[in-house]
Amino acid sequence: MKNPYATWLSEIMLQQTRVATVIDRYSEFLQKFPTLRALANADEADVLALWSGLGYYRRARMLHRGAQFVVRELRGKLPHTAAELRTLPGVGAYTAAAIASIAFGQSVAVLDGNVERVLLRLLGRDEENSAHARASLMATAQRLLPPVAEKPGGNPPGDHNQAMMELGAMVCLPRSPLCLQCPVVAFCKTRGEHVTPQRTPQQIRLVAHLLAVRKRGVTTEVLLERRSSTASLMPGMMELPPLPLEAIAGREPVLRLRHAITNTNYNVQIFSESARGVQPTIHEEQNTAIAPTEGREPPALSTEDDLLDDDEVFVADPNEVTVVARLLDELPAEAEREWVAAGLLQHLPLTGLARKALQRLGVMAVPKVQIG
Ligand code: SF4
Repeated sequence: MKNPYATWLSEIMLQQTRVATVIDRYSEFLQKFPTLRALANADEADVLALWSGLGYYRRARMLHRGAQFVVRELRGKLPHTAAELRTLPGVGAYTAAAIASIAFGQSVAVLDGNVERVLLRLLGRDEENSAHARASLMATAQRLLPPVAEKPGGNPPGDHNQAMMELGAMVCLPRSPLCLQCPVVAFCKTRGEHVTPQRTPQQIRLVAHLLAVRKRGVTTEVLLERRSSTASLMPGMMELPPLPLEAIAGREPVLRLRHAITNTNYNVQIFSESARGVQPTIHEEQNTAIAPTEGREPPALSTEDDLLDDDEVFVADPNEVTVVARLLDELPAEAEREWVAAGLLQHLPLTGLARKALQRLGVMAVPKVQIG
């Protein structure tokens, strides 16, 4: 059996987020909050800061509230059954089944998107968005599950659930499944992609943000804006101040990038403004990552068709950017903003987009990847 708190954390982090993105953040999170009690006692802002870049921040808030609930109401002990786990904030059927089977050995099936795809293909069924189809798949998943371990040490239901999730994530891929490597190919009725309903088309939006920096003694500070606590997306998180699109007409951004949230692709442009005599700080070691590509023309401005791929970021040389008029004056007056020392940025609950832009521009350090 696995540590229930760590299992809960990993299942929440892995919702809507790739394993490669989660690995480092998971370790950092467990280092900072090694126990459920440590998480319960933390400030929400510290929890959100560690979640920054993973997106879907409601998950972090619910996890934090869940930990507080367990400490306050359940004497710090996570419930052992899926039915009880579902009473925790932010824990749905899937997460409850995953924790109950992996951490406590309960024989209850998980049905996430990956497992659903594997089962549909094994059964030779098309995807169908109906409660009846889902209930039928859930019943099949439950029938396939081995019973609870008779002897201590093993965990057949937890192992089975993890194997099904892994099969969907690594072999039975949404596009071009690796059927020749599949351990259940002999039982599979599809052996390839299955029929799926048409997805909602992605929307494209152009947004602009301001990177404003200033020097205070030897400290470089960045202007950040706090999103409203009632915003539907990322309430209370900090971001680079959004600019009205009228303010950017005729200006050249220092950075263009693409950022996707749910079914919207954002075509993002970052404009730079410095206090007089101060240019954005560019870390020496990151210059290669953000220098403009030699001989490459900057893409044309601002049409919806100009959406760039993530790895096709164009960054202008900040020293060549001419500030035509004070962009700071174009910011709406009512928002809550503050100047923050660049060295403190990594401890703040930044939106994923703000983190990405600040790292690409070299204002914020990129975490070192640990291998092994
Ligand atoms: Fe998926 Fe192919 Fe395996 Fe069937 S044989 S479960 S389609 S990987």
